[in-house]
Amino acid sequence: MLIVKKFGGTSVGDKERIFNVARRCVEEYRKGNDVIVVLSAMGKTTDELIAKAMDISPNPPKREMDMLLTTGEQVSAALMAMAIDSMGVPAVSLNGFQVAMHTTRVYGNARLKRVDTDRIMHELEIRRIVIVTGFQGVNKYDNYTTLGRGGSDTTAVALAAALHADACEIYTDVDGVYTADPRIVPNARKLKEITYDEMLDLATLGAGVLHNRSVEMAKKYGVQLVVRSSLNDNEGTILKEETSVERMLISGVALDRNTARISVIGLKDEPGMAFKLFNMLARENVNVDVILQSIGRDNTKDISFTVARSEADEAVEILTKSKSRIGATDISCNKTVAKVSIVGAGMMSNPGVAAKMFEALYNENININMISTSEIRVTVLIHEKDAERAMNAVHDAFGLEE
Ligand code: ASP
Ligand code: MG
Repeated sequence: MLIVKKFGGTSVGDKERIFNVARRCVEEYRKGNDVIVVLSAMGKTTDELIAKAMDISPNPPKREMDMLLTTGEQVSAALMAMAIDSMGVPAVSLNGFQVAMHTTRVYGNARLKRVDTDRIMHELEIRRIVIVTGFQGVNKYDNYTTLGRGGSDTTAVALAAALHADACEIYTDVDGVYTADPRIVPNARKLKEITYDEMLDLATLGAGVLHNRSVEMAKKYGVQLVVRSSLNDNEGTILKEETSVERMLISGVALDRNTARISVIGLKDEPGMAFKLFNMLARENVNVDVILQSIGRDNTKDISFTVARSEADEAVEILTKSKSRIGATDISCNKTVAKVSIVGAGMMSNPGVAAKMFEALYNENININMISTSEIRVTVLIHEKDAERAMNAVHDAFGLEE
């Protein structure tokens, strides 16, 4: 069997943890399996590298940022190869360049395009454990790129897909995917299984266990993923196209604080305004999420939308520059909001799910700012201070507790 195992930063946070992972990999290898290990940077390394960069310049060239960040994963990969070697098993570490994980051009948030398999296949054939740096790749200019925070998961899934692996295991510091982040909702429960679609919508659930794109990719290539703890042998959560256990109405409640609400007031009420506004943001790579358009006074309209909090200032700046061209009278930004979502494939066949959520919020006297829905998700934008209360109220209303 060919097995891809991915370990997150906390799982390789110190010497003891590194040897813990090394042992798990050696065990797998000794069963006769081919083992590929994808690693994140140790502990908080990536955050520390970012802080170091900010200390030098508040606005460093993006290419250099990736040059810096890719070192984090190289450290953990090389140390892991040493640890495994010291246990008498041959191992080799490869970075994004050496494997050749080909990505798009964009620094800081590149997408994987193609993975060369020759080098890895060769290393497996001569019976080495292959350790691959997560989160990084190389673009057509032969420069390092990174895949966005948490991107190592995507590296693992891409390798599993390209090499037709028999299993892809994502090891983390929690036991799997939960019905809500257990740090916020103490009686959250671990899920045995979850569908790709549910997981996509719940990307922030259960301590942000998986990178969004890794789930997209797993769905696209039919890679069955298991999320489990590196610290015990508990079963974990299986991700697949359809779950076999009886479908619950909803699978989980997710919280996203990384959001800000921007309101553009007094736009001319004529065709093309939404296009102009969102096109400006798209051109600068600002991702827009929930959108609400409402009628203003005297032939005007207001458009509100959410963006990642980290992109809010940039979005406001872009819009302010063109304020007169789009005829806006005011642009405001609120960074004290949070998104709470319920997700569940069972929603499709059950009316009244949204109402039940709204009722739970009403009972807590929590005001809703914006609402957005998909077939399997309902999201509300609320004040950040209400977020934890909302999570617990909604979680309990749907009987998700243990
Ligand atoms: N080290 C990177 C990060 O902290 C990538 C990852 O951990 O997946 O975001
Ligand atoms: Mg992660």
